[in-house]
Amino acid sequence: MHVHMVGNGVAGSGGWLRLKGWHKWLAGFMLRQLGIPASALEGDLESIYADHLAQLVRGSSMDAVVLLAHERVHDPDGTPRDDLGSMFVPNDVVLGLAKTFPEFLPGVSIHPARRDALDELDRCLAGGAVLMKCLPNCQNIDCSDKRYRPFWERMAAAGLPLLAHTGGEHTVPVVNAALADPKLLRFPLECGVTVIAAHCATRSGAFDHDYFDDWVEMLSKFPNLYGDISAMISLNRCGHLRDCLRGGIAPRILHGSDFPVPVLGHRMWLQRWIDWPTFRRCQRIANPLERDWEFKRALGFTNEIATRPAGLLRL
Ligand SMILES: [Zn+2]
Repeated sequence: MHVHMVGNGVAGSGGWLRLKGWHKWLAGFMLRQLGIPASALEGDLESIYADHLAQLVRGSSMDAVVLLAHERVHDPDGTPRDDLGSMFVPNDVVLGLAKTFPEFLPGVSIHPARRDALDELDRCLAGGAVLMKCLPNCQNIDCSDKRYRPFWERMAAAGLPLLAHTGGEHTVPVVNAALADPKLLRFPLECGVTVIAAHCATRSGAFDHDYFDDWVEMLSKFPNLYGDISAMISLNRCGHLRDCLRGGIAPRILHGSDFPVPVLGHRMWLQRWIDWPTFRRCQRIANPLERDWEFKRALGFTNEIATRPAGLLRL
């Protein structure tokens, strides 16, 4: 679960990538550590990236990954705000790639304030969407907005889970930091949607609010709530990773990678969560999808975190 599609629209997908300053440097760094030259940012990035990613999936323990579209920022009245945000990956990109590559399961992305939100949802369901992904704090989505009830109810009826970013974010620009709060997800949960809180509501930067305990508290009230441990094999987001092995939490944990976010296990070794030989063995794995998986296995996560999504996704 939780693998990002990235593209620049050079081949006519309608998507775009606009990177400035720190985000441009970060994107080049991420591509280079995947073995993709930074010059791909100016070429047909969609094709280069998709081919490379499919090879990585084939070389990993995973049969398939959920490949995510990325919606544009919208105002609450549904007006698209292309002056905000750093990228747009249209739903047709991931729906199309999933038809070419059996390794990819399409995760679509729809701002529920869009005037055509329900039509787009129906179109994506017909196209085989397995989940809907959004980043409330980056795309300006208040999931508790009561106007979205028909949208959440349609998702619930179709068995389409919501994967919502929770907690801080530093790889794409934040529009409204308050929307990172997992408590805003109570409304789609009450509408019957299966909700997966990406990163289990943990902080990304040192100054972010940490919502992990709020998310844990919600687990007992909402049996349809889960969390993914994507991007948590990292220097900045690993703080609560071992807490996710606790009895009451572990059955709600799903494996996600957040590819192409770098997989770095150094802090887990420094904190003595894993020994030096284990750290070296895992960190040396060239395939980042497999490196992420092996670190999680070394910490004590079982195969169930990777097989559990099969029972939740709309397959
Ligand atoms: Zn992500």
